[in-house]
Amino acid sequence: MNSHDIAFDSQHIWHPYTSMSRPIPAYPIVAAQGVELEMADGKKLIDGMASWWSAIHGYNHSVLNQAVTNQLSQMSHVMFGGITHPPAVNLCRQLVAITPEPLECIFLADSGSVAVEVALKMALQYWQARGEKRQRILTLRHGYHGDTFGAMAVCDPDNSMHGLYKGYLPPHIFVDAPQCGFYDEWDPNDLVPLIDELAKKHSEVAAIILEPIVQGAGGMRIYHPEYLKGVRQLCDEYGILLIADEIATGFGRTGKLFACHHANISPDIMCLGKALTGGYMTLSATLTTRHVADTISNGEAGCFMHGPTFMGNPLACAVADASLTLLLNSPWQQTIANIEHQLKTELLPLASHPDIVDVRVLGAIGVIEMKQPVNTAALQKVFVENGVWVRPFGKLIYIMPPYIITPEQLTKVTSTMAKVLG
Ligand code: PMP
Repeated sequence: MNSHDIAFDSQHIWHPYTSMSRPIPAYPIVAAQGVELEMADGKKLIDGMASWWSAIHGYNHSVLNQAVTNQLSQMSHVMFGGITHPPAVNLCRQLVAITPEPLECIFLADSGSVAVEVALKMALQYWQARGEKRQRILTLRHGYHGDTFGAMAVCDPDNSMHGLYKGYLPPHIFVDAPQCGFYDEWDPNDLVPLIDELAKKHSEVAAIILEPIVQGAGGMRIYHPEYLKGVRQLCDEYGILLIADEIATGFGRTGKLFACHHANISPDIMCLGKALTGGYMTLSATLTTRHVADTISNGEAGCFMHGPTFMGNPLACAVADASLTLLLNSPWQQTIANIEHQLKTELLPLASHPDIVDVRVLGAIGVIEMKQPVNTAALQKVFVENGVWVRPFGKLIYIMPPYIITPEQLTKVTSTMAKVLG
């Protein structure tokens, strides 16, 4: 890529959450291998982001490459309406085997946001089939579930700027997020806002949607497993469906295969995405129970009303199947425990810095929360100058590296995080 390409990019191509008229720099990356991204000038960056939680095995992995290539030689895509194929069946067989017990019916969708749309539509169709008018979703403040309209309507109303879309978004119910951290002593009062809201509105509520244990893009908050257990109990008490959005937390990131395992609970609907394909391409899955699937299917419509063009894309399913096998055949628990230990050792001491509010670590996630919003472009420049790829946002400087990161590479990332703080 030359300077003309970069100028074209900044003039014509949107980037995530970036101004078109005053874009912050986009760095040219031309290759990626292992844990390193390679810039156009040959400079290598150690990746602290796993491409937003997804590239758990690192980049250009021979096993994943082979899975894509093998599938490519068979067929890259075929419609899923009235057709099935080995990559979809193989992947779904694995997903049914590893997700919490009653989840057994899988909808393959295109992206995390679409998986959330599908989950919300399943909940609505479920209650419609049961002849009850329950159309509201209850969720937590500081949540994040995606950028499409249905998903956006259940994101934190403040930091997703619901005000911008006033009139378009259905008015769902928000309760205060849990305050008890993962390692704090459990305080049952944490559940009071939810208990109070449900006491008043339970008959309107179709489902509760939340990110189990780690609230990601809405603030990187890591909460107590007892809260999640309490939510499950309340859902059971009131007959409300529980949707676990494991799009960020799934596939080992928090130290358990799924974050729901920290609380030993099963949701009625679970959304998976991001690391599902090892970061190779976009694919998501929404899983539900036989009971929910049957109820929907026996309702007025006779089916679930969704069917994207690229549903069950064979290339994506093949690489997801290979990625899952790679993960399950690796000592992932030990690997993530080692990363967690190193992150605690290297990041927690930074908490005494005068500009820092809190430092949090769980599994292969490390978060520094600053008192003030950071200057993303300026910090990113310093990270790149130091050979590290980290993209801070808001008040957060956070990392979720590929699981294959070496202790030396991880130290380089954490020491650069300390360095940018000054
Ligand atoms: N849910 C959660 C918890 C997420 O972190 C994200 C992505 N950041 C999404 C949903 C949306 O996924 P996608 O960006 O693939 O649409």
